[in-house]
Amino acid sequence: MVTPTSSIDDDILTVLWSPEQLLQKVQDLASKITHDFSSPDSSAPVIVGVATGAFLFLADLVRNIKLPLTVDFVRAESYGSGTVSRGAPKISCDVKLDVTGKHVVLVEDIVDTGNTVSRLIAYLEAKGASSVSVCTLLDKPSRRTVQFELLGDGKFYSGFECPDCFVVGYGLDFDERYRNLPYIGVLKPEVYR
Ligand code: 5GP
Repeated sequence: MVTPTSSIDDDILTVLWSPEQLLQKVQDLASKITHDFSSPDSSAPVIVGVATGAFLFLADLVRNIKLPLTVDFVRAESYGSGTVSRGAPKISCDVKLDVTGKHVVLVEDIVDTGNTVSRLIAYLEAKGASSVSVCTLLDKPSRRTVQFELLGDGKFYSGFECPDCFVVGYGLDFDERYRNLPYIGVLKPEVYR
């Protein structure tokens, strides 16, 4: 006999951002990016999503950027199945597009210690990108241990400041689950203890 599984919503302590709040923020960020890359002497950016966490954010973001952009993904492994960052991540999946001389916008779900973004900026610089901007939906500035510098005239686009707790949903996982929640919430501690 199959035991019925409870709803994944039952594992959530509090909802921090609703689907409506997320969409509004994504539209604001997309408008800023559209504006900043619209000048006639600026080529359309390459939008590089950091898999897997940024997949929903990236999908909604690019649909609201009014530019002839291109899209690619990188994968950086840092968390495994835990809830605490393990330090410098390794890049386990390369970009496919040639970013030489291109303006890259790196799209992240969340910047926490700064290790991942710092590593990816260096990686894109080594690949010859002319600028690297970072667009993150969530930022946990209180947890930063690595101060990163953007490349060239790259900008930092940030959605919401996130409290120092472990959040899931809208692409963000715990042990590969909860990515499909349409909102972002705090996971009940008993789920991961
Ligand atoms: P950093 O390298 O900045 O410490 O961590 C960045 C990565 O850690 C993010 O891309 C994300 O995958 C993961 N991360 C950091 N904080 C959280 C969190 O609260 N929830 C989830 N699900 N992932 C997080």
